[in-house]
Amino acid sequence: MSVKPVVIIGAGLAGLSCTRHLVRQGVEVLLLEAQDDVGGRVRTDLVDGFRLDRGFQVLQTAYPEAKRQLDYTALQLRNFEPGALIRTNGKTVKMADPWRRPTEIFSTAFNEIGGIADRLRLARLRWHVTQSTIENLWAEPDSTTFDYLRKTCGFSTDMIERFLRPWFAGVFFERDLATSSRFFRFIFRMFAVGDAALPADGMGAMTKQLTKEIPGNMCRLSTRVESIDGRFVRIEGGEVVDASAVVLAVEGPEAFRLTSGQIHSPDSRSTTCFYYAAPQPPITESLLVLNGDQSGPINNLSVPSNISPSYAPKGQALISVSVIGTKENESKELELEVRRQLRDWFGSDVDRWLNLRNYHIRHALPAQPAHFRDGGSPNPKLAKGLYRCGDYCETASIHGALLSGRHTAEALLVDLGIRES
Ligand SMILES: Cc1cc2nc3c(=O)[nH]c(=O)nc-3n(C[C@H](O)[C@H](O)[C@H](O)COP(=O)(O)OP(=O)(O)OC[C@H]3O[C@@H](n4cnc5c(N)ncnc54)[C@H](O)[C@@H]3O)c2cc1C
Repeated sequence: MSVKPVVIIGAGLAGLSCTRHLVRQGVEVLLLEAQDDVGGRVRTDLVDGFRLDRGFQVLQTAYPEAKRQLDYTALQLRNFEPGALIRTNGKTVKMADPWRRPTEIFSTAFNEIGGIADRLRLARLRWHVTQSTIENLWAEPDSTTFDYLRKTCGFSTDMIERFLRPWFAGVFFERDLATSSRFFRFIFRMFAVGDAALPADGMGAMTKQLTKEIPGNMCRLSTRVESIDGRFVRIEGGEVVDASAVVLAVEGPEAFRLTSGQIHSPDSRSTTCFYYAAPQPPITESLLVLNGDQSGPINNLSVPSNISPSYAPKGQALISVSVIGTKENESKELELEVRRQLRDWFGSDVDRWLNLRNYHIRHALPAQPAHFRDGGSPNPKLAKGLYRCGDYCETASIHGALLSGRHTAEALLVDLGIRES
């Protein structure tokens, strides 16, 4: 390269979004990624013909930044049915989305969980988040999600414990619902106005799509950055790259390490995902299954091959089981506990399920508790020539990572004199 490149460290959604914006403006870029492929927390592994996302996750089609940056048609999105199946008191009950499936309302778990009053509260919450703008929702007072649901919305304990807690524990990767109610309202709005979807070929298809416009010589994989010193980037093994500017597009805790504590490091929310191959799917619906009993390790379960058949070889089903938190060193015992619970739910068929692979993800999400955004989004510029982006800078989501990457690219383009502020 004849000119010093902008070095972007980390090829997750934020780093890819930032890189693509800069490349489109003709900026010389060098993207350095520690892992053997791009994607960060959004990757899909092919294992014996099964597509295993690195931890169960979905794309909420209403995310404004995903709509802006991704080509949904090319991703061939396959939608979950709105609503959920809830395991409670030894049976499975359906909580249909009454607004999109009005005919199913009387056959649903509304008769079993909560009651008329909770139905009205849900209607009111849905009306509130869909009528307001995203900006106004963020401007509302913050509290924990739990306090918002209990005190502000008035939901019954039954409704929270058997439906709302497992649902949002699976989104925030924490059972206390201590996450900011501002973030909750944003996510609830996304569920209300869009679909939860999987790309036909796995979540990793999203990051592959972002990579398409990035020339191969601008991206180096299996290249871990050891340290940065001003604009000098030291790679493990000793090589030093002289950059025109540096963008840290790594997870919050890693940005904290690379800046020697210059930024606040968010706490980590963890999850473990178990994948099973089965001759038959345990449910026929394209619905999420929630554990409404709050007992046993499983929080939620899904059958990705019901949503997109390409997740499993013909004649087989792929089942994903999500547990909140991770205990990598107790993996064997945890898998036995998970299997016991699955047997309890689905009977002896489970004995024929093959455990394909498990993902223990320590930093699945940055913690975003109440008041985390009281001062607004942090400045993408840390110092002259040093920038950052990542989900921890916006919201702990696909939307937040993509948005943060774009904002940082825009700030850099202004500083490079390519764009006006
Ligand atoms: C299991 C799971 C489920 C999720 N579910 C959802 C969901 O349903 N909906 C939703 O919106 N969001 C979900 N998320 C969150 C979403 O995936 C993340 O918010 C987003 O992918 C974060 O992107 P990022 O670019 O900020 O970080 P990352 O994807 O973590 O990217 C950081 C990159 O930096 C690289 N890196 C780190 N250190 C170095 C170094 N020293 N040198 C070079 N490279 C380095 C890493 O290898 C990584 O590739 C989920 C996340 C997980 C893990």
